[in-house]
Amino acid sequence: MIWQVLIAITIFLVVFAAAHWVIRMLGVPPPPEPDPDDLDEVEIAYACAVCGMRLTVTAVAGESKAPRHCMEEMEPV
Ligand SMILES: [Zn+2]
Repeated sequence: MIWQVLIAITIFLVVFAAAHWVIRMLGVPPPPEPDPDDLDEVEIAYACAVCGMRLTVTAVAGESKAPRHCMEEMEPV
């Protein structure tokens, strides 16, 4: 009986913490629009290793970082 109560409390705390995290993430405002003068023109092709989708990045602000698709970081091609 005591184990059932402890397990129920643990499940409640995990669900509560997950819900709290999701609600906090929804409350974070998006980053401000980048200044067009800060964009560097590039041409970097990426491919998704999961589904094969390809895309070409034509402008980056600051440090270039591989985009993500299918929850994975895309690979340069
Ligand atoms: Zn993909």
